[in-house]
Amino acid sequence: MNSSDIMYFDNASTTKVDDEVIDSMLPFFKDYYGNASSSHKYGSNIKKEIEISKQKVADLINSKTKEIIFTSGATESINMVLKGITKTNSKRNQIITVSTEHSAVLDTCLFLENQGIDIVYLPVKSSGIIDLEELNKIIGLQTLMICIMLVNNETGVIQPIKEITDLAHKHGALMFTDATQAIGKIKVDVLSLDVDFMAFSAHKFHGPKGIGALFLKEQLIKNFNSLIHGGGHQDGLRSGTLNVTGIIGLAKACEIAKVQVETSKQIEELRNELENELLKIDGTYINGDIEKRICNISNICFPSIDSDVLINRLDTICVSNGSACTSALIEPSYVLKAMGLSNEDAFSSLRFSLSKYTTKKEVTFLIEKLKQIITYLTSLKHV
Ligand code: PLP
Repeated sequence: MNSSDIMYFDNASTTKVDDEVIDSMLPFFKDYYGNASSSHKYGSNIKKEIEISKQKVADLINSKTKEIIFTSGATESINMVLKGITKTNSKRNQIITVSTEHSAVLDTCLFLENQGIDIVYLPVKSSGIIDLEELNKIIGLQTLMICIMLVNNETGVIQPIKEITDLAHKHGALMFTDATQAIGKIKVDVLSLDVDFMAFSAHKFHGPKGIGALFLKEQLIKNFNSLIHGGGHQDGLRSGTLNVTGIIGLAKACEIAKVQVETSKQIEELRNELENELLKIDGTYINGDIEKRICNISNICFPSIDSDVLINRLDTICVSNGSACTSALIEPSYVLKAMGLSNEDAFSSLRFSLSKYTTKKEVTFLIEKLKQIITYLTSLKHV
């Protein structure tokens, strides 16, 4: 398949790397390939570039450079926090999370549950947002940490992280947010959110794959348990030779995102156009809160239409659903199920996720194509 045939509406899954990002990385493959930990001049020049990159990442989220750890991505950052922190406090043994978190959180929590940690899974309302009252009832002196994502990857719904953080801190608990889907779409400021930890990946906002970061509040660094031991890189917090090209690319993506968050209006307009047209199809509805969500995701239910059939018929137009293959069974999206959808409606829902590269022409094409397919599939039912 030729990549020029593709119409890409799956940007919540991963994004096209920005040309400027690629250009920034190339010299570090070709000419400046040294090890940032080497003590010779060549190595120390690369170390300086790493420091400049760290500043760019810190600038995007309003943190200090010493509060940034480079990792292989959000999954690793999430594992580091959840596994690292549970070893630090023997009196508090509870982590509160949400049933609609990404599997990187849920699977790590399951692992910890098997190690004897008390994990509480909060439900969500039909909007996909948590009920603060529910959280208030559960949190207590036993709570070590709250772990709640800033933006959901299937619906784009934004959780009230500042309110949750305030509640966590009031009870002496820590606050961790997975901001993987938020960075590059909304302004993310760790100081005003007041979170203690935050995870994200470069490839979700036009950076390269396999690189990400963990924000770790300065006061917590000394008690933090490393997950990866070795040569003592990154102050012993995450050993392993630095992924120099990845870090340079991540920093460039952050630099671009800092100015482009404001231009997300254009993406939102296209998303709304897509949504308004698709909602004209009989019975369709949006999954998740319409107001409190990011600009580029739309999750729509097309009742009685199998989303796998739609994905198949859309062919080179890439969209996604949250269904998962476990063993031989296809399971409906657990996120949509947690929001109260029936199995049937969850199986009939599609996620469209746009980016700065999405064009009006592509949106118009997608609308027409979907309308055609749905008209055809509906006509088969009436034969
Ligand atoms: N968290 C969220 C909300 C995500 O959407 C993803 C990726 O899909 C991850 C975590 C994991 O990111 P990565 O695969 O880059 O480690």
